[in-house]
Amino acid sequence: MENLVVMKFGGSCLKDEKSFSQIQYIVKKYREASKIIIVASALKGITDKLIDFYKKSCKEEPKCDYIIDDIFNIHKNMINQILIDDESEFKKTFEFLKKEISELKQIGGVIKLIRPSMQIQDIIISYGEKLSTFILSQYLKSKKFKTEYISSDEILLTDDNFGRALPLLEETEIKVTDRIIPLLQSELIEIICVTGFYGSTKDKKITTFGRGGSDLTAAILAYCLRINFNLKVIYWKNVKGFLNADPRIAEKTALLKRISYKEAKELAFFGSKVLHPLCLDVNEKGNIPSEIKFFNDPDSDEFTTITKEIVRGEKVIKAITSIYKLSMVTVESDTMVPLTGTASKIFSLLGDNNVNIVFISQSSSENNITFGIEFEDSMKVSFLLRNSDFFGKKWFRIKINNDISLVAVIGAGVLHTPGIAGRVFTSLGDDNINIKAIAQGSSELNFTAIIDRKNCDKAINILYNEFINKSRSRKKEEIN
Ligand code: ASP
Ligand code: MG
Repeated sequence: MENLVVMKFGGSCLKDEKSFSQIQYIVKKYREASKIIIVASALKGITDKLIDFYKKSCKEEPKCDYIIDDIFNIHKNMINQILIDDESEFKKTFEFLKKEISELKQIGGVIKLIRPSMQIQDIIISYGEKLSTFILSQYLKSKKFKTEYISSDEILLTDDNFGRALPLLEETEIKVTDRIIPLLQSELIEIICVTGFYGSTKDKKITTFGRGGSDLTAAILAYCLRINFNLKVIYWKNVKGFLNADPRIAEKTALLKRISYKEAKELAFFGSKVLHPLCLDVNEKGNIPSEIKFFNDPDSDEFTTITKEIVRGEKVIKAITSIYKLSMVTVESDTMVPLTGTASKIFSLLGDNNVNIVFISQSSSENNITFGIEFEDSMKVSFLLRNSDFFGKKWFRIKINNDISLVAVIGAGVLHTPGIAGRVFTSLGDDNINIKAIAQGSSELNFTAIIDRKNCDKAINILYNEFINKSRSRKKEEIN
C-alpha cells in the first residue's frame, strides 16, 4: 500500500513568510516517501476577525467593512511576500482574494435583512480557511510541487448543527474516496491542499466544527482513506505535544512521548487545548496513528505519538490535569432523592437546556445528588432548578458552590489499581486540602477530586510530586 501523510497546519503555522517556507521544508521532507494531504487553518488571527465582522454586521454597525479591508490587506501582504517570484500564480491568487473578499462584503451587507444566525456565521468564518488554503496551494505550486486545492464543502458532509457540526462519516467516506483517491493515484498530483474547519450539510449549507476544528478535518480525511493507504496524521503545532501537566501551573512538566487515544481523550476532556477533542475519537475509530509535532523544530524527536496501544510503564498515572473554574450543584432531599427518576429528571432538565455536566459524584447515602457544571452555567442552572415544578417545591434543597476546581490523575487502569485514591486523599490531606467530592469523570481512566479553587494550583503540584516526580527521581525512568 502506498504511504499517505495527512498534515494539519494550524493558524500559528501560517503567520508570515517564514512559516510558509517552513511548510515547504516539511513537505519536501515527507514527499520522498509519501503522498501528502495538507489541511490548513485560517491565517493566524483571521477567524477572530471574521467573527468580529459577523457580530458587528449583525448589530447594524455600518462601518464594519474596515474589518474586511484589514483581512484583505493581511492576505494581500502575504501574497506579495510569498508569491513575488511567480507572476502567473500571483495574479490568480490575487484575483481569488478579490473575489472572496467582495463576496464577504456582500454577505455582511445583507445580514440584517436575512437575520443573523449561526448558519450565516459559519458561512462567513469559512472564508478564513478558503483564503489561507488557496494561498498555500498556490505557493506550493510556485515552488514546483504538483498541488491541487479542494474546498472541503465538496467532500465533507456534516449534520446541521451550525457552529458545532458533527461529521457524517459514512457519507463523507464515499465522497472523499471518489474525489481524492483518483487524484492521489495520478502522477500529476503529489500534494492535495484541503480547507480545514468546515464542511457542508447534505443540502449544501456550510457548517463549521467549532474553534480549532481543522484538527478534526484532518482526522476525518485520514479516517476516510484508511483502507486504501498506509497512513498517519501529523498535527503541526506550536507545542511539542501533550505534556503531563499544565506548564502554566505545574512547576515541572514533561512531554508524553507515547500515549493512547483513550488517555489523550482524557487530557483533551480536562482542558488540554492541544487537539480538538473529537479528532481523537475519529483517529481511534479508524485506528490511525497520529503525531503532534513542533512546527518550529520539525526534525526533533521530541514529539507525542498517539496510538491504540496503552503503554504500561511502571507508573499508572501519566498526567495530572485540572479544570480551574467549575461550579458544583448539590440537590438534597431525604425523601425525594432516593426515589427512582429524580436523577433522570435533573439531567434531562439540564440537558434540554444545553447545560454540560462535567462530573457526577455518587455518595453512598442516597439523599443527595452532586454534579459539576461549567461556571458560566451556574446562574442558568440555579434558575432552572429553583423554578422547576418538581425541584422548586420545598422538599428539595439546592446548593450551588461557585468556587471549586477539579483535579484529576490520569492513566489507563487508574480505577483498577489499588492505592491510587488513597494516595490522592493522603497527599492532599497532608497539606490540609479538603476533598469536597470525588468523581469518576468521563471514563475509567481518571480519578477526580473536587476541591476549593484557592487550592487548585497547589493540589496539582502535590499530585505531580506524588505520582509522577516521586517515582521518577527514584527510578530515573523515562516518562513514556
Ligand atoms: N480557524 C479556526 C479557528 O481558529 C479553525 C482552526 O484553527 O482549526 O478556530
Ligand atoms: Mg486556529
